[in-house]
Amino acid sequence: MKRPAQSSGKPPASAAAPRPRPAFPARLDTAPTPAVYKPGTSAALRPVAAAVPTPVAKRVVTPIGHGAPASVGMDSVAVRTAMVRKLQGQGIVHAGVLAAMQAVERHRFVDTALANQAYEDTSLPIGLGQTISKPSVVARMLELLCQGREEKLGRVLDIGTGCGYQAAVLSHLAREVYSMERLRSLNDKARDNLRAFRVANLHLLFGDGMLGYAQGAPYAGIVAAAGGNDVPQAWIDQLAVGGRLVAPAVTTHGQQHLVVIDKTAQGLVRSVLEPVLFVPLKSGIA
Ligand code: SAH
Repeated sequence: MKRPAQSSGKPPASAAAPRPRPAFPARLDTAPTPAVYKPGTSAALRPVAAAVPTPVAKRVVTPIGHGAPASVGMDSVAVRTAMVRKLQGQGIVHAGVLAAMQAVERHRFVDTALANQAYEDTSLPIGLGQTISKPSVVARMLELLCQGREEKLGRVLDIGTGCGYQAAVLSHLAREVYSMERLRSLNDKARDNLRAFRVANLHLLFGDGMLGYAQGAPYAGIVAAAGGNDVPQAWIDQLAVGGRLVAPAVTTHGQQHLVVIDKTAQGLVRSVLEPVLFVPLKSGIA
């Protein structure tokens, strides 16, 4: 599964000048639209070790979707509630993350034939050799991203849109989400999956996520669903001071691990967490 990523090595464009944000649907293959930096959107410093348990019931989230299709043959609210209980059993405590996982209908993001497996803790194929991540992995990554914060994050960059599920969950947790996919047909699929939901704060981008998306920088959070040999420099450059990056990357002994990078005023703080198995981060578009 693991393949070495080709690091772009390209420095990101400067995000210093005030520029208007790209409209939805934004595309990278059009002329870049500069972005405005909103002060106060960067995440506060959150030490990795300091998980802050928050009560589950407090956050109110508008559900994405309108009930299960007939083919699911189940009450999707109840099944999601069971899924969220399992996530809590696995140690997920962030109220916002749990509420977002409860709200987003995962079965809407997989093929109809797989819909009855949508709430099992398993990754599922979404075409072109790619997979939708397991619910427990999505919850773990987003909890790390939001750790120590009860309020929404500012702007977040999501690398590897795939079918759009994680991006939809993130749209509950951040004020603006920029989600990038390098495979055009998956970018189209995510757009189709999300169209009916009209998620106004989610911007789907077609392009090479290894270069990040400088027009939206700096980001309070960056999260990647594909792993390379290392974290591209562009992501680190585009992270706000006080922001956090959560990504799989190959570390010592050639094993992919979850890596958390906090950008502090004093420099980068890098933490290597548990081993994981994500699809490869690849350069270029296709
Ligand atoms: N978050 C997704 C998971 C998709 S799997 C979901 O919820 O469905 C990871 C995705 O990363 C794949 O679709 C793959 O094409 C994409 N990917 C890999 N390298 C990439 C890159 N450089 N830029 C953008 N997307 C990339």
